[in-house]
Amino acid sequence: QAKAAGRNTQRLFDPSMQAALLARSSLEADLRLGLERGELFVQYQPVVNHRGQILGAEALARWRHPERGMISPADFIPLAEQTGLILPLGRHVLRTACLQLVEWADDPQAAHLSVAVNVSARQFRQPGFVAEVLEILAETGANPRRLKVELTESMLLGDLECTIDRMEQLQHEGVGFALDDFGTGYSSLSYLKRLPLDQVKIDQSFVRDVLTDPNDAAIVRTILALAQSLDLVAVAEGVETTGQMGFLRLHGCEQFQGYLFGRPGSAQALQALLHAQP
Ligand code: C2E
Ligand code: MG
Ligand code: MG
Ligand code: MG
Repeated sequence: QAKAAGRNTQRLFDPSMQAALLARSSLEADLRLGLERGELFVQYQPVVNHRGQILGAEALARWRHPERGMISPADFIPLAEQTGLILPLGRHVLRTACLQLVEWADDPQAAHLSVAVNVSARQFRQPGFVAEVLEILAETGANPRRLKVELTESMLLGDLECTIDRMEQLQHEGVGFALDDFGTGYSSLSYLKRLPLDQVKIDQSFVRDVLTDPNDAAIVRTILALAQSLDLVAVAEGVETTGQMGFLRLHGCEQFQGYLFGRPGSAQALQALLHAQP
């Protein structure tokens, strides 16, 4: 027993673990503060059709830390989910994206654009989620038909009836839904059929080597066939080359997102892309 206690003590004071805990708690404190101080902002990445015409953009959260510089969402989104800070953060991103929609609505060249907002499972499951989205739409005056909510397959692990009910309430107002990172999670095909989805987004991990890896090519073709038979629009993520684009088009992909068409950038940068296209 003494030995076990000794081990525990040792573990508690393991310097690398302590450092990790400290780093995490200070990053959490910084994130809380950063949200208050307006260090978090939104970038927009174009989503295009098979001709490369911009249909809309995905809103992506960014954090410019005063000392550490840019911190990747891959680092701060999981932290925000664990700590509950995803609720104020998610609200901020949604509100910013809706305000952007309103701005675009005033520009004849941008009025057709839609915006996609990522919503994490924790955010979607909070009891007030539907009311919050409706409130933000009403307050900003954004057109719900131009808003797309991106959910991930982790949503399917919880109460499916509740998920469907929430999606339907928002869909009733015109909000669309995309299943993000498709193929990386747990989705069962029967679930997929039951959800009121408009789009599936093919994860970039399958797109990356689609021309060289026969397994990835098979997965992408299967997802595209599935999307077609379920009447869902397929959006490919992480498209970086015309070769990838060609493969995806050939197999029926309708929408594309990736560095080939534009990196995430400011709303002005997106506007510039829009005005530059033929
Ligand atoms: P995601 O929703 O799948 O977003 C697409 C990610 O792919 C973005 O990474 C984007 O910058 C990146 N990407 C786009 N095109 C390319 C390409 O051609 N090549 C490569 N290598 N990457 C490309 P980002 O911005 O780092 O975001 C990472 C993830 O963080 C997102 O993945 C999303 O899951 C999450 N995230 C970002 N913003 C939010 C947010 O506001 N709320 C929530 N809940 N999650 C967010
Ligand atoms: Mg997304
Ligand atoms: Mg994705
Ligand atoms: Mg992803």
